[in-house]
Amino acid sequence: MNGKKEVAGEILDRLKLIHPAPVCELDFRTPFELLVAVILSAQCTDKRVNEVTKTLFAKYDTPEDFANIDVHELERLIFSCGFYKNKAANIIKASTDILVRFGGRVPSTVDELTTLAGVGRKTANVVYAVAFGGQAMAVDTHVLRLANRIGFVKSDKPEVVEKALTAVFPEDRWTEAHHLLIHHGRYVCKARNPECNKCTICEYCDYYGSISGRG
Ligand code: SF4
Repeated sequence: MNGKKEVAGEILDRLKLIHPAPVCELDFRTPFELLVAVILSAQCTDKRVNEVTKTLFAKYDTPEDFANIDVHELERLIFSCGFYKNKAANIIKASTDILVRFGGRVPSTVDELTTLAGVGRKTANVVYAVAFGGQAMAVDTHVLRLANRIGFVKSDKPEVVEKALTAVFPEDRWTEAHHLLIHHGRYVCKARNPECNKCTICEYCDYYGSISGRG
């Protein structure tokens, strides 16, 4: 098996055996709640975001609510997610944008989503894939690390990594690949101590090749 696409498909099949039902671990009930949760998740764990949104969404959960919220109240509620001033400002601006330009509904394309204040490509891809069922390769810290360790790309730029991964994975598996790589990064191929001894894709991994002397 030599082709990069063939290898990529095999990697997904193997990852699926150990992570059979990978899903987004953020709690949400609507596309708007997911958008807010993804904004809050920058540099923060999904677990912490879920703790914060449990209280937050009980009181505020529509674009109207957040467009009109007192910024200090929002900062207080999301404080523990970190970068709370930026995140609060972005959530309020994005909510106002959704009201003014999209009639109160979260837009359902990546291009439109990225026009919202504070919404970058990663956030747009996650919302498009998870809330609207689209195929997208959102590149977060786990996906970026895995893509480099396995050897699909050598870059720390998310847009370069996204391009490389969407070139090797079939389009109808982009969202699945995104979830599988995140789960593998979170539970096996950890940032500091990757557990290569229990990794089922080590034979395809450049990093493993370099530490085992294979490569
Ligand atoms: S072999 Fe190690 S570095 Fe490579 S993907 Fe598996 S856990 Fe990560």
